[in-house]
Amino acid sequence: MSKSTIQIGILALQGDVLEHELMMNAVLANKGIDSKILWVRRPEQLDSLDGLIIPGGESTVMSRLVSEMRFGHKLAAKIQERVQKGMAVFGTCAGAILISKASKDQVVKDFSQALLELMDIEVIRNRYGRQRDSFERPLTIERLGNEPFPGVFIRAPIITSVGKKVEILAKDAGGIYAVKQGKLLATTFHPELTDDTRFHELFLEMILND
Ligand code: GLN
Repeated sequence: MSKSTIQIGILALQGDVLEHELMMNAVLANKGIDSKILWVRRPEQLDSLDGLIIPGGESTVMSRLVSEMRFGHKLAAKIQERVQKGMAVFGTCAGAILISKASKDQVVKDFSQALLELMDIEVIRNRYGRQRDSFERPLTIERLGNEPFPGVFIRAPIITSVGKKVEILAKDAGGIYAVKQGKLLATTFHPELTDDTRFHELFLEMILND
């Protein structure tokens, strides 16, 4: 992948789009790459992308927006098609839920949701409860070096099982928090709400080292 033609987009239907945009643009600039994040709202915008970020927010709303309402199934189908052709995806929190192949809900038990089913992971939504049960804690992530990563968990899910091709980046007795499968990356927490750019750097590396 050539640095001069790289294009990363962010699914900008709902959620913390701006925070990802600021962080990814800073990472691109820092690497001397003259490219800015594209806000993606229409299926055809995905054609130009090497990587797509799916932000945190509310995955049920995003599910509906990608698969039911404005575009029919076009946006969801287009994301799936582009991933087949090698587009990288980074999902954080609600984004991680959206790219999983199966999700259950800890709070609202009876629930079904359209998912993009890109990554061979299963998740439980709202694992720690509601908004007031959000928390922050440092995470050990070997792949990112010795410095602990600030884990910001907001109505976070947990990853309960992963397929054989999935690399676990962060886990402890509580569960699995970060995973990578080929060019797909997911965290149950929010790197974009910290000032630690290592996950966004890793995502860029995944795109460039193709
Ligand atoms: N609880 C939200 C959901 O299920 C995720 C929250 C978040 O992205 N911070 O979609």
